Amino acid sequence: MGPKTNTLTDTFGRAHSYLRISLTERCNLRCTYCMPAAGVPLSPKAHLMTADEVYAIAKTFVDHGVTKIRLTGGEPLVRKDFREILQKLASLPVRMGITTNGITVDRFIADFKKNNLKDINVSLDSLDVQKFKDITRRDYFERVYNNILLLEKEGFNVKVNVVLIKDFNDSEIVDFIGLTKDLNISVRFIEFMPFDGNKWNVKKMVSYAEIMKLVNTAYTSEKLLRLQDAPNDTTKNYSIKGFKGSFGIISSVSNPFCDSCNRLRLTANGCLKNCLFSSSESNLLGLFREGKSIIPSIAKAVKAKQKIRGEMDTLEKLKESNLHSKNRSMITIGG
Ligand code: SAM
Ligand code: SF4
Repeated sequence: MGPKTNTLTDTFGRAHSYLRISLTERCNLRCTYCMPAAGVPLSPKAHLMTADEVYAIAKTFVDHGVTKIRLTGGEPLVRKDFREILQKLASLPVRMGITTNGITVDRFIADFKKNNLKDINVSLDSLDVQKFKDITRRDYFERVYNNILLLEKEGFNVKVNVVLIKDFNDSEIVDFIGLTKDLNISVRFIEFMPFDGNKWNVKKMVSYAEIMKLVNTAYTSEKLLRLQDAPNDTTKNYSIKGFKGSFGIISSVSNPFCDSCNRLRLTANGCLKNCLFSSSESNLLGLFREGKSIIPSIAKAVKAKQKIRGEMDTLEKLKESNLHSKNRSMITIGG
């Protein structure tokens, strides 16, 4: 069914056709850039959307023009009823994807295939076992790496997300691009972003310009190809001549892509966020449980979306740490 109204179009004419749904605030890793060492206060289970509520709320968005859904978290695959949720959502006319840390994807290959989930983004920030342990505070490198190989072999559309941190993993950029020689995957370098409790500092960020400087040193201009980006793509895509895969850069900090933003985010406790960087939220689950229509609240949240990066439109504002703590930790937003 096509959009019935302009519920999902904001005051800047951006039509929102992409919904990212966080299924849980829990995770089997503890990435330093995503969550504080002490963890985050978790919502009581009764405050989280059930499988039926995820479906019903997602369906309302689909009825109003959403054509793409990505499941995220926390770690979406730790949710016990993940298979049930996937199966329910697969009955909607949408393209489905998931963002996962990859630890247990090997157990879900058949479910992904059966439910036509093709787009799988796996986070992997280092190819070095010890550094992986340092950043995730857990020892699962082999599992994640082998699962990326498995997904590629099984023919999924695999993207590997690498959050770059200065003097930690920026020395691995060329190694990551090297993976795309024989693997048909897309490696995406993500600029480190500020959220509550992640000790962000602009000096820790590796910018698009810095990444390209390194890439240009490793590959001549004849070898480096700039690829056509898909509409609403947040990534600037490249490949190396003769390599099977590609790589890209997501520059939310140094070069935001808000003009073409088509994303909305639903948190595991049923709140709608109109922007990753905005601290304002609309409690859709509360209304849904009271038996009220969630459509006016969705329309209001979409119309309130700011032009650039929520309340952090300038780099100066991004640097204000009091604004970081107004927003949630990334683990409870879903990326
Ligand atoms: N657990 C899953 C995973 O790690 O892929 C899904 C949730 S995670 C919050 C989604 C994405 O957000 C991951 O690719 C992660 O690397 C990214 N992310 C988390 N914190 C970030 C930050 N501070 N800056 C940039 N990306 C971040
Ligand atoms: Fe967990 Fe993903 Fe956050 Fe890492 S980035 S702590 S894997 S939710």
